[in-house]
Amino acid sequence: MSEKSHMEYRKRRVKRLKRMILTAVFLLIMLPIALSIWLMCELHARENELAEITAQYEAQLQITEGLQERLDEEIASAKEAYDELLAQIPPDTDIGEEVSETAEQTEEEEDNIRRVYLTFDDGPSAYTGQILDILDEYEVKATFFVTGTQVENNPDMCREIVKRGHSIGMHSYSHVYSDIYKSKDNFIRDYIKIRDVIAQTTGVTPDIYRFPGGSSNTVSRTDMDELCEYIEGEGVRYFDWNISSGDATRSALTPDKITYNCLSSVGNFKNAVILLHDTGTKYTTVQALPGIIEGLTAMEDTQILPITEDTEVVQHRKSKEIE
Ligand SMILES: [Zn+2]
Repeated sequence: MSEKSHMEYRKRRVKRLKRMILTAVFLLIMLPIALSIWLMCELHARENELAEITAQYEAQLQITEGLQERLDEEIASAKEAYDELLAQIPPDTDIGEEVSETAEQTEEEEDNIRRVYLTFDDGPSAYTGQILDILDEYEVKATFFVTGTQVENNPDMCREIVKRGHSIGMHSYSHVYSDIYKSKDNFIRDYIKIRDVIAQTTGVTPDIYRFPGGSSNTVSRTDMDELCEYIEGEGVRYFDWNISSGDATRSALTPDKITYNCLSSVGNFKNAVILLHDTGTKYTTVQALPGIIEGLTAMEDTQILPITEDTEVVQHRKSKEIE
């Protein structure tokens, strides 16, 4: 090999070596970059998946919560219907009661009048106007136990109840059992709200109360005796009922059935408080009303009256003061 060709060979080798080093350096730089890009893409894809799964989970959770709420409502309404059924069973007649009743009868021998009180719960509603017109037509006064939320929804109708001479009573602000019966504090907070809403709307401070589900309800987590005592301490009397129209059931009863429920046991009571409902879903109650009034008017010595301070209380749970 000549000196010249040897030089050529070395030059080529150096060139090749240089290229190899450059390629290696290039690869050393590019590979981590490529790897990083790939990892970032993967991460992004996983993030998207996670977001989707979270959204699905949240949607599922909402559905479950909705179902739970509906279930709670169903249970509460079933319990209310059950309590009303219980209330229809004639009260146990122990000797003590008989004695006091006999004494009462002798005392008021001349007073043979049967007093019937029509009471409408849960209003005012879209049907209150029609109920008021029917009552006017028969010149009958009734009692409306209204809720705060409904008064706020229909303030004019609430004023109309008072304007047309009917009695107005409290039936809680929210009517949400799980809230008002959770604790005594909750109950008091709700009580003050409904009292003030009625007073501000109508100018009348109500002095009668009906517990949602009645004073003997089995849903309350607070001792009902304590709540009854509180109410009475406020100078307010609470009224339950001894006759239920049965119109609280989820599927509407026929007007005939409601009328029958109201009239069939009136004969058992000298002081009959009839439970009816005034809500946007109880149209058959409105349809039954004329028949109920006509049936009661046809009964001998029977008066239909609004609840006033003279009305004898009808209570499922007797308060200590009354006993
Ligand atoms: Zn109610």
